[in-house]
Amino acid sequence: ETAINRIAAGEVVERPSAAVKELVENSIDAGATRIEVVIADGGKTLIRVTDNGCGITADQLPLALSRHATSKIDGSDLLNIHSFGFRGEALPSLGAVGRLTITSRCGGEEASVIAVAGGRMEAVKPAALSEGTVVELKDLFYATPARLKFLRTDRAEAQAVTDTVKRLAMAEPFISFSLVDASGGNRREVFRADAEQGEMFDALNGRLATVLGRDFAENSIAIDAERDGFHLTGYAALPTYSRGSSAAQFLFVNGRPVKDKLLIGALRGAYMDFLSRDRHPAAALFVDCNPQLVDVNVHPAKSEVRFREPGLVRGLIVSGLRHALAGAGH
Ligand code: ADP
Ligand code: MG
Repeated sequence: ETAINRIAAGEVVERPSAAVKELVENSIDAGATRIEVVIADGGKTLIRVTDNGCGITADQLPLALSRHATSKIDGSDLLNIHSFGFRGEALPSLGAVGRLTITSRCGGEEASVIAVAGGRMEAVKPAALSEGTVVELKDLFYATPARLKFLRTDRAEAQAVTDTVKRLAMAEPFISFSLVDASGGNRREVFRADAEQGEMFDALNGRLATVLGRDFAENSIAIDAERDGFHLTGYAALPTYSRGSSAAQFLFVNGRPVKDKLLIGALRGAYMDFLSRDRHPAAALFVDCNPQLVDVNVHPAKSEVRFREPGLVRGLIVSGLRHALAGAGH
């Protein structure tokens, strides 16, 4: 069981940013409106995610650490994946590759804590916590030194964590996020995004201003298009604005950050008349569809997706963007 967990862990958690992604996605799934991430030494020695979500009951805590014990799917419905979590693998994997402690309080119950290190689970004990869940992962990969060697510098790993938190924050403008670097005993706030208010497009614009900068938020147009069960929303830069970097392209499918050639290609295609082939139009785009129309489970750690009908999605993006750009006089 421990060996299996360790192998699976390598798939799910390749580096600190992957652990942060899994933990923050769990907090989002738990309905949190406030999520705080603390890391130290690039996340290698400490990752702590604190949320104000629904929490986990004492009797469910050991279950949350068992392989494939997800509370988010009922087995008969494997394709109908609405929440981020559907594998039930993240927590057991993290418990196999680091010293994991979960403290949680659910409703009016007493808070409780469970610890697992190297795949060995301790008994659930009472704890003190006012609400939500605190997941702490210390000494990632201490039990698998071979993996430690593949990690990059603290600075590079911290940057990857920052990028991950920013991406997740873009997709959830109504949730407050903060990222603190606690290396060497100091607390330095690396990123902060307070919860946005109001209507979805305003909230998203506000969040994009925080994450990508006011310049992008003010020089982009709202995208809102629908076709054959696919809904495209977000903001795309006016042709007059270009950061000229692929890092400015942020794509999401059903709320999940993805890096997908089809979507990037469609985005570029929409700007073909304005930009030379080597330019990268800046955009934050969200494709939402019935989960049955897309496979997001291609690889747990990679952000690839596979659409049932790629042509439809490409067409929607190209026409949706072109229509919006034409409407803005381009
Ligand atoms: P999955 O997210 O795929 O269900 P995980 O291993 O990530 O699997 O989590 C296992 C279970 O633990 C979840 O299904 C959920 O019930 C519970 N859980 C994990 N993190 C949280 C959290 N922050 N708040 C509430 N429940 C959580
Ligand atoms: Mg999960």
